Amino acid sequence: MSKDMDAAAHTAYIALGGNLGDAAATVRRAFAALAALPQTRLLAASSLYRSAPVDASGPDFINAAASVATGLTPLQLLDALQAIETAEGRQRPWRNAPRTLDLDLLLYGNQRLDTPRLTLPHPRMLQRAFVLWPLAEIAPERVPPEALAAVAGQAIERLP
Ligand code: ADP
Ligand code: MG
Repeated sequence: MSKDMDAAAHTAYIALGGNLGDAAATVRRAFAALAALPQTRLLAASSLYRSAPVDASGPDFINAAASVATGLTPLQLLDALQAIETAEGRQRPWRNAPRTLDLDLLLYGNQRLDTPRLTLPHPRMLQRAFVLWPLAEIAPERVPPEALAAVAGQAIERLP
C-alpha cells in the first residue's frame, strides 16, 4: 500500500499487550490498526507471546511488539495509540488493572523525552521480559544481550 509519508519518517517501536477477552485477536486487530494509521507504515510485527502478570492482576497476558515508519510526531503517535486502545474498550479503573489492550511507545528513533504525558525511551522497558523478547525478535539491535539476560527469570512463552 502506498501512503503519503513525511520525508522525515521516524522508526518507532510499540509494545502491545492485553489480558481481558480474546487478547490474541485484539493484538492482531491492533497490528492492523497500526498499519492503517495516517503517515504510517507497519514495518514488522512480532510473534505473539504469553506472560504471567507483572505488577498487575488477572489472567495471563498476550504480548507482542511492532515497528512502524511514521511521519507522526511522538505525541501524535501516542494520541493514535490511545485512540486504538479506547476503540478496543480499554478502561482504567485502577493502576495496573487488567486491560483489553495496552499500547506503549517504547522507542521513537533515538529521541529522548521526559514529559508528564510521554517518556522516551519507555522508562520500564528494560525491566520487562514481555517487552524485550518480542522487541528482540523484530529489532535485535535495539535490545542489548545484558538486558535480555537480566530478565531471564521472568516466565514468558512464544506462541506457535
Ligand atoms: P501502563 O503504565 O500500564 O501502560 P497506561 O497505559 O494507563 O498504563 O499509561 C499511563 C500513562 O503513561 C499514559 O496516560 C501516558 O500518557 C503515559 N506514558 C508516558 N510515557 C509513555 C510511553 N512511552 N508510552 C505510553 N504511555 C506513556
Ligand atoms: Mg500503557
